[in-house]
Amino acid sequence: FKRIGFIGLGAMGFPMAKNLLKNDYELHVIAHRNREPVDELTAQGATEHKSVADIFSQCDCIISILPTDKEMESVLLNQQVLDAINPDSVLIEMTSGSPEMMKKVHDAYQLKGIPVLDGPVSGGTIGAENGTLTVMVGGDPDVLERTRPVLEAMAKNIYLVGSVGAGKAIKAINQMLAGIHMVASAEAVALAEKLEIDMDKLKEVVGNSSGASWMLANKMDGLVKRDFTPGFKLNLMKKDIQIAVNEGVDKQLPLANYVLELFKQSEKESGEEDFSAIGKSSLST
Ligand code: NDP
Repeated sequence: FKRIGFIGLGAMGFPMAKNLLKNDYELHVIAHRNREPVDELTAQGATEHKSVADIFSQCDCIISILPTDKEMESVLLNQQVLDAINPDSVLIEMTSGSPEMMKKVHDAYQLKGIPVLDGPVSGGTIGAENGTLTVMVGGDPDVLERTRPVLEAMAKNIYLVGSVGAGKAIKAINQMLAGIHMVASAEAVALAEKLEIDMDKLKEVVGNSSGASWMLANKMDGLVKRDFTPGFKLNLMKKDIQIAVNEGVDKQLPLANYVLELFKQSEKESGEEDFSAIGKSSLST
């Protein structure tokens, strides 16, 4: 693949698109509300288009990383877009959406003979900038092999986890855990502050004990400084835990449901802040 159409130039998509340019891919982009990423990418050699349909007709690989199911549906299942798509192209869908929406997109593209790879990511904006993301791929192994060089321009770990939808499912499970761990980490910091514990010691000792988590190791400093600059927005984390809860299980997901409620309560005040702002309910001001 040479001509890549990239839809969704946000906190993740923008640095991912930059890495494709750095790896000599021809990049085709569109502005949504914020022009800044498009201006910077075109200055670096990308081509700007006026419509998504235009991009889909001219590219041989389309990458989308949009906020939620809603945008996946409105962009990828738009009839004009489906009618315009280059029949020899491939779609790599990287949004953290629901497995159900992913399958809907897959079915619509399959009718057109367009291969689809489900590939949500983990690793945050730092991983996106450094090209060290983890991709959770659902789809045909042959399609993965064909698109692997494109993914390798953005990612370090590429896992094939099942068929289309399985990537979104594993991502939702990861996010359910991450949300729970974030709330737990904030409670640990609140308690440590109350007990006047040295934070470096807490990090070191718990980091080598059974209470260790990625979240405490990586988000503790931000909690201590009350720095909630996104990063990964709280409203997107709420959306991810909601996906996990929506899938349901025969018994219950008591913790996930409780943590989802906490995220819902914080959304109005802190939805556009980093998801660690969920800690405000435990931390002193
Ligand atoms: P952002 O909100 O920062 O970016 C979303 C991007 O999509 C923006 O550039 C927005 O444009 C664009 N967009 C929205 N609607 C449309 C549309 N109809 N047509 C074209 N572009 C559109 O989100 P993130 O980049 O943070 O997240 C994207 C996805 O990746 C989410 O599903 C998220 O859960 C997931 N994710 C995020 C991580 C993070 O650390 N941020 C980590 C791993 C996964 P505009 O701003 O102009 O409206």
